[in-house]
Amino acid sequence: MSAEDSRPADRGAFSPPEAPTFRCPSCGAPAARDARGCVHCGSLLATKRCVTCFALSPREAERCVKCGALLPAAAFVAEGSGRCPDCRLDLVAHAFGAVGYSECPRCAGLFLKREAFEAVTKDADTRAKVRLAEPPAEAVPTAPAAPGKKASGALPAVKYRACPSCAKLMNRSNYGGGSGIVLDACRDHGLWFDRGELAAIVAFLEKGGWDRIRAREREKLSEEVRNLQTRRDFSRSVGMPTSDWDRNQQGLDALGGIAGLLTALAGWFLKR
Ligand SMILES: [Zn+2]
Ligand SMILES: [Zn+2]
Ligand SMILES: [Zn+2]
Ligand SMILES: [Zn+2]
Repeated sequence: MSAEDSRPADRGAFSPPEAPTFRCPSCGAPAARDARGCVHCGSLLATKRCVTCFALSPREAERCVKCGALLPAAAFVAEGSGRCPDCRLDLVAHAFGAVGYSECPRCAGLFLKREAFEAVTKDADTRAKVRLAEPPAEAVPTAPAAPGKKASGALPAVKYRACPSCAKLMNRSNYGGGSGIVLDACRDHGLWFDRGELAAIVAFLEKGGWDRIRAREREKLSEEVRNLQTRRDFSRSVGMPTSDWDRNQQGLDALGGIAGLLTALAGWFLKR
């Protein structure tokens, strides 16, 4: 990493520079970010424009008040910098509607911020846009070794890639724990998708993949909770020698805490 590489500075969380580049969406006059009205034309400024129907919604709204489409958010904006971990080319910023992503011009790999990826998984409209923009590659879905790697020479089956943004090696994980689609993720910057992988995830979600995984997780969690409760009840019923009383009491409290946490987690899974 040379000094030039890191110069296109500030790859941290999205934080616009102090200089107000914000403009009135109606007349284009420059405006302070937190101003409620445009000093030039008087229109309301605390608004976001829908990329689907162009109606204005309150700035804090998540969805368009007119058509219900997902509204742009700072967390969805593509980093706008970074390099393809395989081709070393600069990524180019694009968007699926309100959700931004960066794409390698050679291998068509995609880099999305975590929030942007979550928006894709949650929002059916955005998923439809992904399907239009990225028809699934023929060979992709279940093979962990994705196609397109030949382009950069022979690679081993398991390869840790550098984050396009910070160049640290990314973690690999099987999406959803059982989709067969292996993702590379940087905790701080986002997720990398080989060509066709995002489309494969969308297809997986549309086929109810998450519902199956959630059902399995729920099952596992409630079993854990039952086990812990059994163990706790057993410890209580047995009774402890006095010298061990304090230590065991602590153990019981910790056990209760874990059971509580698992119960909360199970509740969270049930709600989703
Ligand atoms: Zn104006
Ligand atoms: Zn709209
Ligand atoms: Zn590439
Ligand atoms: Zn990173």
